[in-house]
Amino acid sequence: MLFGRNKKNPITIADKKIEKWSYSTCGYCSTGCSIEIGTNKEGTPVSSRGVGGADVNQGKLCLKGIYEHELFESAGRGSTPLIRSDFHEPWNEASWDDATGKMASEIKRIQSKYGRDAFAIVSTGQILTEGFYTLGKLARGVIGTNNYDGNTTLCMASAVSGYKRSFGSDGPPGCYEDFEHTDCLIAWGSNLPEQHPIIYWRMKEAQEKRNFPLIVVDPRVTMLAQNADMHLTITPGTDVVLQNSLMHVILAEGLEDQDYIKANTNGFEDLKKEVEKYDPTSAAKICGIDEDTIRTVARLYANAGAAMNIWTMGINQSTHGSDGVVGLNNLSLLTGNIGKKGGTSLSITGQCNAMGTREWSSCSGLPGYRALENPEHREEIGKFWNVDPEFFPKKRGMAQTDIFPAIETGAIKGVWLVGTNPMTSMPNTARIRKSLEKLECLIVQDSYQDVETTDYAHIFLPAALWAEKEGCFTNTERRVNIVRKIKEPYADTKTDLHIFNEVAKHFDQSKKMTFPYKPADVFDEMRHLSKGQLVDISGMTYDLIEKNRGIQWPYTEEQAKQGIAPVKGGKRLYTEDGVFCYPDGKAKLIPLPFVDNNEVPDEKYPFWLNSGRLVEHFHTRTRTGKIGNNNKFSPTAFMEMNPDAAMELGITHQSYVRLVSRRSDAVVMVMLTQRVPRNMVFVPFHFFDCVNRLTLGLLDPHSRQPAFKQAAVRIEKINQEEAAKINKEARKF
Ligand code: SF4
Repeated sequence: MLFGRNKKNPITIADKKIEKWSYSTCGYCSTGCSIEIGTNKEGTPVSSRGVGGADVNQGKLCLKGIYEHELFESAGRGSTPLIRSDFHEPWNEASWDDATGKMASEIKRIQSKYGRDAFAIVSTGQILTEGFYTLGKLARGVIGTNNYDGNTTLCMASAVSGYKRSFGSDGPPGCYEDFEHTDCLIAWGSNLPEQHPIIYWRMKEAQEKRNFPLIVVDPRVTMLAQNADMHLTITPGTDVVLQNSLMHVILAEGLEDQDYIKANTNGFEDLKKEVEKYDPTSAAKICGIDEDTIRTVARLYANAGAAMNIWTMGINQSTHGSDGVVGLNNLSLLTGNIGKKGGTSLSITGQCNAMGTREWSSCSGLPGYRALENPEHREEIGKFWNVDPEFFPKKRGMAQTDIFPAIETGAIKGVWLVGTNPMTSMPNTARIRKSLEKLECLIVQDSYQDVETTDYAHIFLPAALWAEKEGCFTNTERRVNIVRKIKEPYADTKTDLHIFNEVAKHFDQSKKMTFPYKPADVFDEMRHLSKGQLVDISGMTYDLIEKNRGIQWPYTEEQAKQGIAPVKGGKRLYTEDGVFCYPDGKAKLIPLPFVDNNEVPDEKYPFWLNSGRLVEHFHTRTRTGKIGNNNKFSPTAFMEMNPDAAMELGITHQSYVRLVSRRSDAVVMVMLTQRVPRNMVFVPFHFFDCVNRLTLGLLDPHSRQPAFKQAAVRIEKINQEEAAKINKEARKF
């Protein structure tokens, strides 16, 4: 019997009875989409939509943004402060005053017994910039520990370090609009469709209009690679070799921009001497890209009117992460591709406010990209905060990835974690667990009480979530956008800004300083401190930011006074009339010798272990693991494996296997796919007790970022019934 189309029930969309749409900015990735949240008569958030006319996303949202309104009532939220004397004991509820008072007395006890730096603070890329600035004031000006860092060390530290080495300062020089002007795009270790879907849409739309070549460098056939004109399946960890070889061809064939090099850079002769060693024939043997392809890519890139490099974790998460970024900057500088439309070196950032922490948190220095090493900067901030500049350390302390080993050695006795979950995010889970167990005091501040790290905490501070508070984020292209408060904080949770101010109250030094509670007052302090800096936001106000759907910095007070409207579309750093941030105004070309120092597959552990993101999830699934559709589409960890390699080992699709590295093992379901080569497996990094049980995470010497994507494993067949049980037990949500 045939059923006609008219016999089917029409699809109807439920009327959610939305009374009001409120403006905000998405709180997941660094794309920085403008979002509106619909609330009903009772003020309950019931829907999300993209903002038409917003430069960044032009009305679109990805899978995470579309369901963002569901976050407010999601499972596992913390509701009240908790205290206990030992992490084996049950929790006791506490008032905010008791919890912050207990916390302050523990910090004072540890510091007086073991020294100021024995207490460490590790923050995040997720909270609002006003919170970051205030935490920086508290950490640097009141608590005074130098072991203060953000979890952005796991994702963006190599980009920061590489920008500083090449240009004299952090700050991505390009913007999304560059896609609309470029004549050649090389994407290095960046899977835009899954990691930054809306940036991918911008790129794809521009490419379809102008048909510029898209070249993807990635060992895995990612979604972006499937859409590329050329896909370079590089051997993991050898980006610097490929970059040097591309420069070798460019210089050998006279394709460099000599005028630009002479006017704007130092170090050309030293760079030339180094890249002479990387002829394509020799380089091909190390990086796995054939010599003809290296020559073709070098010519396409250097002959393009404007060419851009973008990258994400494939470059950053390596023992050569910082060098890889400098290598891309070298390529851009050699060919004059900085500060012009379509010509740039643009790191695609990870978290929604990774840029905000880089600019304002004082993690690696002092606010507004100021340096601890610079006496004038210390003086200036000391005066503004009313802190003796001698109280500030004279150079940066430990990075996050050095803080955990310092717990093992006994140098660190107490840690305050803000919006970060090292039990899932750090390499070598077993080692992190032992470190946390050793602490005399662990404080976890998070919107979710059920993050795995809370199991080891002595104090838990429940924080308000995303749009339960007001303030700013900065996105990948330096666009400051505003998060408006959509609803009151859940239960007895407090905003991060409020929590930092309450902690400050328990220290005498804070009485000589100001700790404003209103986000706009904090923003005013930042505006004041930004005047004349690279990151000048002095012309911005919350209302102007919302009106423009985000404003890229720099936007100065003078521009605002003269009535100059913020630039629509794209704004760039180091344009033709601009100067770099080194004292002589020139950028540095830096030679990069390649040192092969990572763990590589061998007879015992014959597979590369690669890890990365899925479109449905964000970081450690603290949020997306609770959102119906996100979790439904991707509920469990899996391992991509090449079918030929699987056949050799007798492994079948959707069976469970044990992955074993020199650190530990993990049970995971097999997904057979040609996306990975025969000698590689790929496991998403979002799941607890999975890939990071195996990772080694050797550190980049400049950025201290771990090499998450390069480790060696073997695969063992196991009893399927037992494996299914282990797997179910391990997946908490
Ligand atoms: Fe949010 Fe990023 Fe998705 Fe935009 S692309 S909606 S910022 S998660």
